[in-house]
Amino acid sequence: RSGIMRKFIVGNWKMNGTSSDLSEIEAIATMSANYKTSVDSALCLPATLIDRATSLLPAFTLGGQDCHMQVSGAHTGCVSAAMLADAGATLTLVGHSERRAGQNESDADIRGKAAAAHVAGLKVIICVGETLEERDAGKALDIVLDQVQKSVPDNAASDWLSIAYEPVWAIGTGRIPEDSDVAEMHGAIREQLVARFGIDGESMSILYGGSMNGDNAAMLMAIPNVDGGLIGGASLTAAKFEPILAAA
Ligand code: PGA
Repeated sequence: RSGIMRKFIVGNWKMNGTSSDLSEIEAIATMSANYKTSVDSALCLPATLIDRATSLLPAFTLGGQDCHMQVSGAHTGCVSAAMLADAGATLTLVGHSERRAGQNESDADIRGKAAAAHVAGLKVIICVGETLEERDAGKALDIVLDQVQKSVPDNAASDWLSIAYEPVWAIGTGRIPEDSDVAEMHGAIREQLVARFGIDGESMSILYGGSMNGDNAAMLMAIPNVDGGLIGGASLTAAKFEPILAAA
């Protein structure tokens, strides 16, 4: 593995943001452009903002946070991957732990959503991660590798698919795992991707997510097989996001 993969830094705005935040999104895009020779960056916005943000910032990568696995139909309240693409997204998250837990999404659902997003022409980040209970029981590796195995479609390729490892207990808590635990998990995910996808598995980005910020980003991204970050709270302002891009 060359080890010189470009870092990929993705903000996840979750259920935050209205039109009054378009100026902050613009500030983030402008700031990110200063790092674009060395870092790929993107923001996953609420679906309601993607169209307006795209019009404002056509050169910046914008993504959704979830998609339905069907293109259209009787699914009240849902947004399809084709709709995200139509609004200007070129990327989407699927399988975030807040959806796995809050919307009862299964690995099979997530696999279907990832496949649908790819068909719609979107890049995809599949999120995986163990709960604190699972880590304390010594099951973190088994749980996460099982999620990767079952959530990643068979036709996955590095030009459209990334993984985000996000320990559920690290999300929004200010707690992060030990370096050695991150190294072990990312190494194990890498091994599984290579076993399944061959040489292309070497090039699939594996992001870390969960309380990443300007203070810990450099340390986290120095860990082998950490190819970038998925950032929640610290992606909401250009001031907090910039030190993470600088660290990458
Ligand atoms: P956090 O969220 O950076 O606020 O911990 C990360 C995520 O949930 O993607």
